[in-house]
Amino acid sequence: MNKPVYVDNNATTAVAPEVIESMLPFFTEHWGNPSSMHTFGGGVKKHIDVAREQVAELIGAEHPNEIIFTSCGSESDNMAIRGAVDAAGGHPHVITTRVEHAAVLGPCHYLEDKGFRLSTLDVDEKGNLDLNQIRQLAMSGKKTVASIMWANNETGVLFPVPEIGNIIKEGDGVFHTDAVQVAGKLPVSVKDLPVDLLSISGHKLHAPKGVGALYVRRGTKVTPHIMGGHQERGRRAGTENVPYIVGLGKACELAMQHIEQNAEHERKLRDRLEEGILSTCKGAHVNGDRENRLPNTTNISFEYVEGEAILLMLDDVGICASTGSACASGSLEPSHVLRAMDVSRTMLHGSIRFSLGRYNTDGDIDCVLEQMPRVIARLREMSPFAKD
Ligand code: PLP
Repeated sequence: MNKPVYVDNNATTAVAPEVIESMLPFFTEHWGNPSSMHTFGGGVKKHIDVAREQVAELIGAEHPNEIIFTSCGSESDNMAIRGAVDAAGGHPHVITTRVEHAAVLGPCHYLEDKGFRLSTLDVDEKGNLDLNQIRQLAMSGKKTVASIMWANNETGVLFPVPEIGNIIKEGDGVFHTDAVQVAGKLPVSVKDLPVDLLSISGHKLHAPKGVGALYVRRGTKVTPHIMGGHQERGRRAGTENVPYIVGLGKACELAMQHIEQNAEHERKLRDRLEEGILSTCKGAHVNGDRENRLPNTTNISFEYVEGEAILLMLDDVGICASTGSACASGSLEPSHVLRAMDVSRTMLHGSIRFSLGRYNTDGDIDCVLEQMPRVIARLREMSPFAKD
């Protein structure tokens, strides 16, 4: 099989060769336990410290020990939300949005089931929030814990994190943002932001799957969810996954070095792809705010065709993209993000997300642009609803 044309980088990214190289010695030579008293094990600890500095630098954290290593973005989100609610005591009001990733909606609904008040904010047809709605909730006089994502994984739409953070802080609430799709794609500087907690995930930025981090601003209280040993200064027990932590550090260093160039590269490819599809495929519409979004993402709906059918036909020719719909128990569930944006019924099931990365080339875009008009024309011919 030929190398696939991979345009699904919001799902996961290829591990960078430099990252693999940085990890290997921690499987072969330096495999000791960083908590050991002997030099062979204990000596490994300094490499974790370097990785912590590299992660801190990527997101502009003032102190490396504000970074806690986790196993993934989902763990970081769960730890932030449940840990902050638990540490707040009383019964804080939990605030989130309808378009969050399941890793945020899951713990929020869990808390709601346990009796916490949960407010789930709406978005408009472009996927943007109404800041007045947030202000009303944040100023209600009750302690709040808000978890509001930075960039949407399906549409790429960016929420105004500084403004949201200011509002939450005015109401003396705790503010967590899921920055899994932002870290490594756009510059981030938490020390200048009203953010208490921020999640990142290794596999979205060319580190392996199975490692993530949570930024916890100094002074923010979070109850640990994994209790046991004293790793991560007692905030997350468990012997450290040293090779993956080292890999995440390296990936952050690489992302940091080329962040502007990569964003520009991805934006150029994305714009060419998007314009090409809109001009050659009938009934194609971009979902979400086209100005205010990640440089690498476009989410396009095709009237009267099924996203899954498009994906299967693309897969046949070696193109890997994604759709927001999930095939659940035999019925096709439309994306909760597009539903929240009130995308019309004729387009709700026909959305495809293309998400680009640093390794994509103009050749990849040529290939997608060659295939898409053929795929869409074919599927529209087969659709009983499509009309010219
Ligand atoms: N949050 C967002 C916005 C995501 O896109 C994802 C993964 O797709 C996650 C959280 C979960 O990250 P992980 O796969 O590392 O658990």
